[in-house]
Amino acid sequence: MKRSYDVVIVGAGMVGLTAAALLSGNDQLRITVIDSGKRPVFDTDDEVSLRVSAIAPGSVEVLSKTGAWTEIVRNRVCPYRDMKVWDAAGNVDGPETLSFSAAEFAVGQLGFIVENTLIRHALLHQLEESDVRIRFETPIKTVTRAGHRFEIELEVGDRLNPDLLIGADGANSFIRGSANIGIRSWLHSQKAFVTCLKPEKSHCNTAWQRFLRTGPIGLLPLSDGRVSIVWSTTPEQAEEALSMSDAELSATLADVTDGVLGKLVPAGPRGAFPLKSQHAAEYVQAGLALLGDAAHTVHPLAGQGVNLGIADAEALAKVISTALQADENPGDLPVLRNYERARKGANKTMLHFMDGLNKLFSTESESLARLRGVGMYAFNKSGPIRDHAVQVALGIR
Ligand SMILES: Cc1cc2nc3c(=O)[nH]c(=O)nc-3n(C[C@H](O)[C@H](O)[C@H](O)COP(=O)(O)OP(=O)(O)OC[C@H]3O[C@@H](n4cnc5c(N)ncnc54)[C@H](O)[C@@H]3O)c2cc1C
Repeated sequence: MKRSYDVVIVGAGMVGLTAAALLSGNDQLRITVIDSGKRPVFDTDDEVSLRVSAIAPGSVEVLSKTGAWTEIVRNRVCPYRDMKVWDAAGNVDGPETLSFSAAEFAVGQLGFIVENTLIRHALLHQLEESDVRIRFETPIKTVTRAGHRFEIELEVGDRLNPDLLIGADGANSFIRGSANIGIRSWLHSQKAFVTCLKPEKSHCNTAWQRFLRTGPIGLLPLSDGRVSIVWSTTPEQAEEALSMSDAELSATLADVTDGVLGKLVPAGPRGAFPLKSQHAAEYVQAGLALLGDAAHTVHPLAGQGVNLGIADAEALAKVISTALQADENPGDLPVLRNYERARKGANKTMLHFMDGLNKLFSTESESLARLRGVGMYAFNKSGPIRDHAVQVALGIR
């Protein structure tokens, strides 16, 4: 008879739940998911939530494997088929503007804009059909190393001794800290201001992004014709935008988006999030694996964060499945190193690329602005280099 193994996933965010759903089909695993927060609620009668994500085709494939995508796509999602990226020094119809369309990459769409709570809700729905135990509002007291494994003590008193502990508890990961895993962190001098707007012109199922000296502003299409904006700007400007009147906000945003969608009427709650990039020194130890934002946090400018996390979850699930077939313990370090090897290099490349882009564009330098224009024009004409970069971002390469 085959041995069973206990797996504890800390963090029922989009990444932790994707990992749980992918692993749930394996009857050798007894899985528990723990989250200190409340169970997310999604209801189509409720207002669109503040946090949405651009979900790339590669992630759609993974979410389809879990069964959750069928439910997600039936709800409030908006496909986008085109993307336009331009610099404040130029204009959206200029030759330097980067334009991508789904048709040229032989995909139905470049991605979907989806509410984060909908993704979590659909994954939880799938998990209801499995033996996975999910405990919300369950704070952890301590996580300590016990030989080759970790012991978790919950505030309610229970102690868990899993063969494998998966830390998917976000950017400020308690699990990462408890395992003494170092982290390289860069705090950006930017905050992301987020809200929903009703544009005067159609969003044309296009994701728009304009680079300003203070940071990029993205306009993401929503299924009801509104757009969700993510404006990475100075912390002062983001705070100011939080308290502006609707008329002031409308005028400011029409200006910073260069009127690409005409007048923008504020139509939703507002929020501001501090931005940082960070990368864990190691993703694994004996008995432990880090996934998603617990392992890496990237600038949101190209909407890659959760897509990288979903790819982590898929890679870890594959490594565990292979280990079980070979009668190996999924918590053993040599097994987990295969996961680290599969993901760390790719995540590092994306992290530095996003960071570099943000720095290159967020500068007052006139000479750099000219160089950028030349660079964007050259990238547009670069054929295979451009195609490769876009395919990686779409998660189809
Ligand atoms: C403004 C903005 C826009 C973004 N847009 C995009 C986008 O368009 N596309 C994209 O791919 N990415 C985007 N991202 C990034 C994306 O939101 C993150 O990468 C993603 O949410 C990470 O998911 P996660 O599950 O790893 O972590 P989280 O979403 O942070 O989830 C962590 C979970 O762990 C739980 N938790 C935390 N601590 C504990 C603890 N001690 N004990 C138990 N549970 C705990 C939390 O309650 C939470 O449920 C954006 C980010 C920002 C800031």
